[in-house]
Amino acid sequence: MAAAKDDWRRQGQEAYLEGSVLSRKKFTPRRPAGDHEHCEFCGAKFSLAPEDLGSGYATSDDYRWVCDGCFEDFREEFGWRVVPEPSAGRSVVVDDVTKEVLHAGTRGPGASALQVYVRLLNEGTTVYRPAAAEWVADGTVRLLVVEGTKEIEEEWEFSPGSWVKVGRRLLEGEQVWVAIESLDPASGEGTPT
Ligand SMILES: [Zn+2]
Repeated sequence: MAAAKDDWRRQGQEAYLEGSVLSRKKFTPRRPAGDHEHCEFCGAKFSLAPEDLGSGYATSDDYRWVCDGCFEDFREEFGWRVVPEPSAGRSVVVDDVTKEVLHAGTRGPGASALQVYVRLLNEGTTVYRPAAAEWVADGTVRLLVVEGTKEIEEEWEFSPGSWVKVGRRLLEGEQVWVAIESLDPASGEGTPT
């Protein structure tokens, strides 16, 4: 059942959960210190303890959690898209504008790895290099440090190892992900905005 306009659980969640991509998954602590999370709506606790919720709907970075009841009450209004859990060995690639799932499959060191184009500086013309990356949040990737990467001799706009916001761009007739903005993971606690 949809939640009423004055439902007590509303706290402006549309600012960060509208149109989000969620997966139903088992709760696992994100980091040693973070042994629990709370439902973004009702505050129900997720943890490994038997008295708490052991699974629910979470964003791809496991940062936002929604319990089953609240998920049912708000899913339509918030327009959530549910994708398979990107558990070990799987990656889910989502267009950050349309929220369209572009790819859900095996993550490997080969062809299926995410590629993001990074601009080279001081080249006179605009030159992009493909770089290996991994998703850390919707629209945010971490550029991977790959051995033998050209970055050693070229000056990249964003260096391998850093977090960047990405956007879809048309490069030589192909829709690709392009690194557009640097993000400092330390300042955003996992969900840079
Ligand atoms: Zn809840």
